[in-house]
Amino acid sequence: MIIILNDDPVYVSWIRRHRDGFVLDTRRKATKRNMTLHRAICPEIRKSKSKRTHWTTRGKVKACAENHTELTDWALEQAGYEPRLCHACNPLDETLPLETDSGDAGSERDLTKLENDILSAVVESAVIHLDNDLEFRMTVGDVAEYLSKTPAQITTAMCHLVGRHLLENLTTASNLAAFPADAHVFPTTRALKTVPAFAELDAERLQAEIDSLHR
Ligand SMILES: [Zn+2]
Repeated sequence: MIIILNDDPVYVSWIRRHRDGFVLDTRRKATKRNMTLHRAICPEIRKSKSKRTHWTTRGKVKACAENHTELTDWALEQAGYEPRLCHACNPLDETLPLETDSGDAGSERDLTKLENDILSAVVESAVIHLDNDLEFRMTVGDVAEYLSKTPAQITTAMCHLVGRHLLENLTTASNLAAFPADAHVFPTTRALKTVPAFAELDAERLQAEIDSLHR
């Protein structure tokens, strides 16, 4: 079990890597009223609802574990109560099939799983950087590492995403067997629109967000 405080990038990375895991959403001081247990795939704790979502900052805490009993035990120890169970994801209902996360940030129709995974990695990372006003420096090597692949293994999928105007500015060279690991990757306004909080922004605001990633 890990307890994540003031580190949204670590939190997002954890839920991305532990799709079968569980998350206890609470606050720095866990009490009977502020503890909710979710599956790691639950949209309630994955989606960036507003542009300034605070997953693990401003007093919010996420306890994450592969096994939900660890989180329940922790809640009992901290607050003396079992956590509330989320109605959206029914974390303890074992008969429930794991939901697919269609409509999740960075997903688009007609893309392969690898293409969607790449797009999600870039978009989610960009959103975190925008929310926290951090410098965005994602490279092909970073994306490959997230997905436990090599740059060569993701090059074809990335070319397709560039062709569909979802990613941009990878490298000026063409006909490469593999994108260089240090080439920078940026989402396009179209990619950013796959995030609900950004979907309503007009073209000008979206472009301004993209520009702030490029600074
Ligand atoms: Zn939930």
